[in-house]
Amino acid sequence: MGSSLDTLRKQLDEVNLEILELINRRAEIVQQIGQIKSKQSMKKFDPVREREMLDLITSHNTGPFENSTIEHIFKEIFKAGLELQEDDHRKALLVSRKKQPENTVIRIKGIEIGNGKKHHVFGPCAVESYEQTAQVAKSVKEKGLKLLRGGAFKPRTSPYDFQGLGVEGLEILKRVADEYDLAVVSEIVTPKDLEIAVDYVDVIQIGARNMQNFELLKAAGQIDKPILLKRGLSATISEFINAAEYIISRGNGNIILCERGIRTYETATRNTLDISAVPVLKKETHLPIMVDVTHSTGRRDLLLPAAKAALAIGADGIMAEVHPDPAVALSDSAQQMDIPTFDKFYEELTDLERRLG
Ligand code: PEP
Ligand code: MN
Repeated sequence: MGSSLDTLRKQLDEVNLEILELINRRAEIVQQIGQIKSKQSMKKFDPVREREMLDLITSHNTGPFENSTIEHIFKEIFKAGLELQEDDHRKALLVSRKKQPENTVIRIKGIEIGNGKKHHVFGPCAVESYEQTAQVAKSVKEKGLKLLRGGAFKPRTSPYDFQGLGVEGLEILKRVADEYDLAVVSEIVTPKDLEIAVDYVDVIQIGARNMQNFELLKAAGQIDKPILLKRGLSATISEFINAAEYIISRGNGNIILCERGIRTYETATRNTLDISAVPVLKKETHLPIMVDVTHSTGRRDLLLPAAKAALAIGADGIMAEVHPDPAVALSDSAQQMDIPTFDKFYEELTDLERRLG
C-alpha cells in the first residue's frame, strides 16, 4: 500500500513538472504575441479570442473535471498571460514605491518638501483683500515659514456663497508673496485657468471636489509647477493614488498628496480625518504627504491634536487656515484660526517637532 502511494506521488510530481513546463512554454508564446500586438498597437485583452480558446478546450474535455472547473483553471492561466503582456506601468504605477523607492523631493523657493524636514502651509481659506492676506503673510513670515495659502477660486457648495476673487485674488497673493518672500499655494478649478495661474502661483492646488476631474488632472500633468492634490470627499486611497497617476503620467511628477478628511457617517467633525492614510500613502507611493487639519476636522479645538497626530504618524507637513478675523471671514469662519491662536498653535507644533527629532 505504502509503496503504491509512493509510486502515485512520484507520478504526480512528474505531471506537475510537465504542467510547469507547459505553462511556461505557453507563457513564452504569449509574450511573443504581446510583442506583435504592441507593435501594431493592438489591445492585449481580446474577449472573442478567449472565448474561442475556452470553447476549443472544453470541447475536448473528457473529464473527470467538469467544464466549469476547466474554464476556471484556464481563465487563471489566461489572466497570468495577460499580465505578462501588459506594459510595465500597469503592473507598477509611476507614483508607486515599487517604481521609485526613494522619496520624491519637491523644491520650491529654497525649501525641500519630502526630504525629512516638515514644511507647513498656512493662510486664509479665501483671499478677501490685500490687507487680510498681508496680515496672515506677515505672521507666516515671522515664523520663518515659506508657504502661504489662499483661495482665489473657491469651489463652494452653494452657488450663492462667496466664489473667490478670481484672478484679482491671484494678483493679491502674488503681490503679498513677493513682499514677504513667500511661495503661494492656491487652488485652480479649471484647465483654462492653469495657464494664467502659473504666473502667480508656486504650487497649484487641486481641491477635493476636483480630485477626479480627469481633464484638470491631465492639464496639471502638462505644466511645470508642483501640484498639491487633495483627497476627494469620498475617495478611496486607491482612487487618490490613481488621480496622482493621471498627473505624473502626463509628465509632472512634482505632486504633494494632501489628506483632508473623508465623508463618513460621523457628524462630530466636518469630515473624518483618515490618519492611517498617511503611512499607507507613504508606503505605497514616493510622494510627500500633507494633512489639512482645517477641512478634515472643521473644528478649531481639534486643529492642534489633529496636527500633532499627523506629524507623529509621518506627514511631511500640515495645512491649516488662518484669518485675521475669522468671525467675519467670507468662508470657513468656524474653523479658521485668528493670529494669536495661530501663534500658539505653531509654538506647540514646533515643540512637538523638536521632540520627534
Ligand atoms: C481648500 O483648501 O481651500 C479647500 C477648499 O479644501 P478641500 O478641497 O479639501 O475641501
Ligand atoms: Mn476653507
